[in-house]
Amino acid sequence: METHLQLFGHGKGSIGVAFILDLTERKKMEEKLRQQGEFLRSLLATLPVGIFIIDPASHRIEKVNLEAAAMIGAAPEEIEGRSCREFFIQSAESCPITASNEEVDRSERLLRRKDGLEILVLKTVKRVRTDSGEKLVETFIDISERKYLEEELYRLSITDPLTGAYNRRYFLEMLAREIERTRRTGLPFALIMFDLDHFKSINDRFGHAAGDRVLKSLVAAFKERLRKTDCLARWGGEEFVILLPDTTAEGAAGLAEELRRRLSQMEIPGVGQVTASFGVTGYYTGDTVDTITQRVDSMLYRAKENGRNCVCAYQ
Ligand code: GH3
Ligand code: MG
Ligand code: MG
Repeated sequence: METHLQLFGHGKGSIGVAFILDLTERKKMEEKLRQQGEFLRSLLATLPVGIFIIDPASHRIEKVNLEAAAMIGAAPEEIEGRSCREFFIQSAESCPITASNEEVDRSERLLRRKDGLEILVLKTVKRVRTDSGEKLVETFIDISERKYLEEELYRLSITDPLTGAYNRRYFLEMLAREIERTRRTGLPFALIMFDLDHFKSINDRFGHAAGDRVLKSLVAAFKERLRKTDCLARWGGEEFVILLPDTTAEGAAGLAEELRRRLSQMEIPGVGQVTASFGVTGYYTGDTVDTITQRVDSMLYRAKENGRNCVCAYQ
């Protein structure tokens, strides 16, 4: 408790008045606030999240936590007092919060480190009212690793691990999309399907590892020749397929002939020369994924029948 004792003159004598205040509740509140303050400070220090406390009028960073300093690669004193726009690329022209009066903004941004490197972060900004006026609390986490892993996972899900060509599932997706596009735009597209000749005997003579090398070299060489928009995929085993957007059947037949010649002239270490047979077809009105792949497959079959190492195009 808190006591106040006061003396009042009273005639010849005096009277002492004592005030006694019960402080139990106030002390409890103070202790609670102190603990809350400490809790918030330790949260700020230990959360694996970068935090800026910003003055909304000037965009100056008033407070920065250790994680933010570590992400930027600078000491907190080097950051405090500077504009948040120095660290977030693109934020100069439009601050989503101060421009639109939104309460919270959440976006992917590039954070510029002290050493000039840029890292991708997921950033949220929120207005908060404090006893020293309105502030912006900006929090951000590094998502560059996550982004990279997502992209890597996606890449693995659509490619064949041995050759790096696309896999059959991805090819079928692209083909369905291309059929839709062609129906809308009327632009042509074509398919080439090819299969290595007597590949079983290559494996038998030179070993399976040498056979694998053939498949890899072939994909590397063909990728170099094809357009970025073409889709070379492993259909299965030693059989591949190429989707050629904006290409007529005649154009595709010419390309298949060139690829056939290229392959037959390639010198594969430990194997020598190999050949393949090629089927070609364009898209015809009413084609589905199944009809067009069956047709190109039958052209390939015909090329095998015609003696291999040749191109057979649908007329
Ligand atoms: P054809 O000219 O009629 O196509 O004869 P082929 O021997 O190529 O045809 P077949 O279908 O009988 O044999 C295909 C061979 O391809 C058999 C299989 O062992 C081989 N093969 C399939 N996938 C791979 C692979 O990933 N690596 C290696 N090294 N060989 C493979
Ligand atoms: Mg074969
Ligand atoms: Mg085959």
